[in-house]
Amino acid sequence: MHGIAVSPGVCRGKVLVLSDNRVDSVPRQTITLEEVPEQINRLERALTETKKQLLAVQEKVNAGMGAKDATIFDAHLLVLEDPTLLDEVGKFVEKELVNIEFAFAQIAEKYASTLEAIDDEYLRERAADMRDVTERLLQNLLGTFQELDLKHLKERYIIVAHDLSPSRTAMLDKKNVLGFATDVGGKTSHTAIIARSLRIPAVVGVGDASKQLRDGQYVLLDGYHGQIVINPTDQTLFEYGQLVRKHVSLDEKLRDTTDKPAVTLDGVQITLSANIEGADDVEQVRASGAEGVGLFRTEYLFLKSDTLPTEEEQFRAYRVVAAALRPAPVIIRTLDLGGDKFMAHLNVPSEMNPFLGYRAIRFCLQEKDIFRAQLRAILRASVEGNVKLMYPMISCLDELIQANALLDECKAQLRSEGVVFHEKMEVGAMIEIPSAALTADALAKRVNFFSIGTNDLIQYTLAVDRLNEKIAHLYEPTNPAVLRLIKMTTDAAHAAGIWVGVCGEMAGDPLMIPLLLGLGVDELSVSPASVTQVKYLLRRIKMSEAKEIATAALASESSQEIMANSQRLVRSVAPSLFEQ
Ligand code: PEP
Ligand code: MG
Repeated sequence: MHGIAVSPGVCRGKVLVLSDNRVDSVPRQTITLEEVPEQINRLERALTETKKQLLAVQEKVNAGMGAKDATIFDAHLLVLEDPTLLDEVGKFVEKELVNIEFAFAQIAEKYASTLEAIDDEYLRERAADMRDVTERLLQNLLGTFQELDLKHLKERYIIVAHDLSPSRTAMLDKKNVLGFATDVGGKTSHTAIIARSLRIPAVVGVGDASKQLRDGQYVLLDGYHGQIVINPTDQTLFEYGQLVRKHVSLDEKLRDTTDKPAVTLDGVQITLSANIEGADDVEQVRASGAEGVGLFRTEYLFLKSDTLPTEEEQFRAYRVVAAALRPAPVIIRTLDLGGDKFMAHLNVPSEMNPFLGYRAIRFCLQEKDIFRAQLRAILRASVEGNVKLMYPMISCLDELIQANALLDECKAQLRSEGVVFHEKMEVGAMIEIPSAALTADALAKRVNFFSIGTNDLIQYTLAVDRLNEKIAHLYEPTNPAVLRLIKMTTDAAHAAGIWVGVCGEMAGDPLMIPLLLGLGVDELSVSPASVTQVKYLLRRIKMSEAKEIATAALASESSQEIMANSQRLVRSVAPSLFEQ
C-alpha cells in the first residue's frame, strides 16, 4: 500500500485498527461466554445515555423550532426501544461471541438496508433514522471504550486509522506505538508533526488502509518512502534491514555537528532552535544540539487532559522548560486550538471550514478567561529563564492590539498582586496568514519578532487544505507566491529592526534551507529530530550562494524550477544527505 511518507523510519509489527465510529468500520472482537452479560450491560448503559442525549436535543429543538420538528426524534427514540431489534442484538452476541458494538452495527445495518430497499418514501426515511441513531449509540459505546484502550495498550502496535486527530494522538500510550498509518492526511497535519517529534515512523494518505488492514495482521511500515508491506517476505525484511543500517550510519555522521555552532561556511550565524509539544521534550532538545525552543505548541497541554489545565499547571510546565534550557530562549506560543485540534469538553460546535474558523487567537480573544490564565502563567514563568511569547494566527492588526492589551492587563494584575515577572519579556507574532505578511510593516511596529508558520501560510496562500491528501501535490512550499510573502515579511521586519524565524515544517527540510536563508530568515525552528541534518547543511552552505538561489527564485515563475535550483545546490554541498 502506498501513501505519503511523513515521518522517517521503518517498523514492523502487529496492526491495531482504530475505529472512527462509522458503522462500516466497527471492529469485530471475539469475547468469551462469561463476558456476554458485561457486553449487554454496556449496551444498556449506552442506550440510557443515548436516550438522554436525544431527549435533550428534542427539548432544544422543541423550544427553538416548535413541536412539529421535534417529533422527528420520536422516531429515533423508538428505534432505541424496539424490543425485536434489541433482542436480536443480544442473541447475536451470545451466538457469535462478538463485542456488542459490532453486533449492534451489523443488526441495525441489516434493518436499515431492508427498509431502504422497500419502494416507500416513509420507510426509506426510517432507514435514515436507523442509521442516525445507530451512529450516536456507537459513539457512546466506542467513545469511552476506545480511549481507555488507547491509553493502556497491552502490546506494541502499528496504529492504523481513517484519521487520527491530534487529541487522540495526544492520548496514545506512546511507548507501545511502533508506527502510524492513516487513510487521510498531509505532510503538515498535526498527526504527522507529532509522529516526527516522537520519532515514530508514519505514513498518511494511504486511501483505505483502515478498511484493508485487520487487527493482528503483520506489516512493515516504511516512513521513508510511504509504503506499507503486508506480510513482508524474508527478502523484503533483509532489504529493509540494509536501508535502516544506511540511515543509522548517516545519523552518526550528522551527529558530529551536534556541539558545533550553526554557522554558514562564510561565517553567518543562524539561530537553530527546536519545536516542542510539552515539557517532556526538553531532553530531546538538549540532545539535539538546538539552541533553545523556537515554538512550544502549548495546545498539547490542553489536548492531553480531559479538563482545562489551570494557570498553576501551565505555569509549572512552562517553568520546567524555561529553567531546563536557560539561558537559551524558549518561545511559548499561546493556545492554537481549532483547525484540526479540538478539545471535546470545550463543546465548540463543529464548523464547515474549521481552518478558516474559530481557531487560535480568534478563540482566545473570545474565551478571555482561558487566555488570561495562559498569559499569566507565561508571564510568571518568564523569570525562570529566557521566555518569549508569541501569538498564533494573527490575521489583522486589531487582533494583535487586542492581544497585547490583554497581556498588559495581566501584567498590571500581577504587579498589583506582587507577583514577579519579566517586564521586558519579548512578544512576537506568527506570520501564517497572507494578510499578516502583507501588513507585516504595521505588525512589526508592535512586536519584538516574527515567526513564520509556513504550514499554515502555504495552506492559506494557495487555498490547499494541509490535511487533504487528494490535493497534496498542490501544497508547494516553493510556489513563488509563498516565497514572495516570506520576503515581504523579512523585509518589513528588518526595516523595523526586528528578527524573523520560520517554525513551520519547511524550516526542517534541507531542500528549503538555501531559499529561507537567502530570503533573510534569521532563525530556523525545527523538530528535534531534524536539528542535526539542518545544522550539517548550514555548516556546508555559503550565505552568498543562498542569496543567489533566493534572488533567482523571486524572479522565477515556476515552483519546479525553484525547487530544482535549490536541490542542485544542496546536493552539491551535502551529498551525504542523499545517499539513501
Ligand atoms: C505553522 O503553521 O507553520 C505552525 C508552525 O503552526 P502549526 O503547525 O501548529 O499550525
Ligand atoms: Mg500554524
